[in-house]
Amino acid sequence: MYLKALEIQGFKSFPEKTVLTFGESITAIVGPNGSGKSNIADAICWVMGEQSTRALRGGKMEDVIFGGTQKRSQVGFAEVSLIIDNTEEILPAEGSEVMVTRRYYRSGESEYYINRRSVRLKDINELFMDTGLGREGYSIIGQGRIDEILSVKSEERREVFEEAAGISRFRHKKEEAERKLQHTRDNLLRIGDKISELE
Ligand code: ATP
Repeated sequence: MYLKALEIQGFKSFPEKTVLTFGESITAIVGPNGSGKSNIADAICWVMGEQSTRALRGGKMEDVIFGGTQKRSQVGFAEVSLIIDNTEEILPAEGSEVMVTRRYYRSGESEYYINRRSVRLKDINELFMDTGLGREGYSIIGQGRIDEILSVKSEERREVFEEAAGISRFRHKKEEAERKLQHTRDNLLRIGDKISELE
C-alpha cells in the first residue's frame, strides 16, 4: 500500500485543481518558505478525517478553503482526494486503488466519499483503522509529535501501540457494541416500567 496521488482543489493555497503523483519510494517536497509545502501535509491529514482546526494550523474549519489573494477571489469549497494503492488489499475496500475524497463548503456542509460513493466520516475512520493511516494514525509524524508521543499519558501512548498492533478496530467495535447494549438495557427498563404501569 502506498500513496499514489493527491488531488487538491480550493484547499488553502491551492485554488486550482492540482494533482501530485507519488512513486513507491521516497518523495521530498521542496520550495521556498510559505510556498505551500505544509499545506500539502495538511491536505493529507484533512482528507483522512482530521477534525482539529489546531492540527490543521487554522482557527476554524472554513480556513481550509482558499480565502483569496490580491489577484484571485476566494472559492466556495475545498476538495481533496487521496488515491492509495491497495493491491495488497490492506484497506477493506474494493479495487486495487482506493480513492478517498473530502469536500467542505463555506456553508459548513461536509461530504466524504470512498471510491466516489458518498459515505460518513465514521466509514473513513473505519477504513483507515489499524493501518497506521488516518487521523489517529502514526504514519504522519509532524514536528513535535515524537516528544508528544513520549510525554502523553500512558493510556494515550497505549492507543498508538494498539493502532500499530492492529487491534484498534476491535476496541472500536467493542465500544460500539457496549454502547448498543446499554441502549438496549435502557429500552428494556422503559418497557418494564410500561408493563408494570399496565398491570
Ligand atoms: P515554511 O517553509 O515556511 O514552513 P510552507 O511551504 O510549509 O512554508 P505553508 O505553511 O504550507 O508553507 O503555506 C503557507 C501559505 O499558505 C501562506 O502564504 C498562506 O497565506 C497560504 N494559505 C494558508 N491558508 C490559506 C487559505 N485558506 N487561502 C489562501 N492561502 C492560504
